[in-house]
Amino acid sequence: MYEMTLEDLLESLNREIHACTKCPLSRTRLNAVPGEGPVNARVVLVGEAPGAKEDETGRPFVGKSGELLASLLKDVGLDRDEVFITSILKSRPPRNRAPRASEINACLPYLYRQLNLIDPTMIVLLGGVAIKSLAGNMKLSECHGELHETNNHTFFMTYHPAAAMRFPRILDVMKSDFELLRRELEMRGG
Ligand code: SF4
Repeated sequence: MYEMTLEDLLESLNREIHACTKCPLSRTRLNAVPGEGPVNARVVLVGEAPGAKEDETGRPFVGKSGELLASLLKDVGLDRDEVFITSILKSRPPRNRAPRASEINACLPYLYRQLNLIDPTMIVLLGGVAIKSLAGNMKLSECHGELHETNNHTFFMTYHPAAAMRFPRILDVMKSDFELLRRELEMRGG
């Protein structure tokens, strides 16, 4: 009998997300954006929600903030192709407005299912919405660069690349945070 591999399961979850109508964002999106990367990724990065370019292409972090994220990853020896990149919401909120609690609640089970399949060493939370949704109500200016451990997952908290594009000071903070991330990953097995 054919047994489904982890890749098959992730692919089937992707198809479910593409067809999802669990919240009203399904009526305004062009494409759902489940995320991309290998199923055996050691690092998963979680942003807030797809923007215009992501909505057009169905791919995560493909705009300017994606370029910045790829360069932050490269600086600490990680290739974009070896990490899994996704977001809290899989469909774009109109005009990039902030995600609503009801949308987050409807969408989060997909992310947890992705995390259970991938089982990464580290989950990097990019920005306040990702931190609040997965790690709890913390002040980004105080918790960035830190770890938050739960029974099942280890989270590393930092800013969203879109904030670093607006404020050079935040870009410097993100660079330092990613260096801390590199050290953490090194300690956990290279
Ligand atoms: S945001 Fe999530 S819950 Fe809402 S329609 Fe998209 S995939 Fe479904």
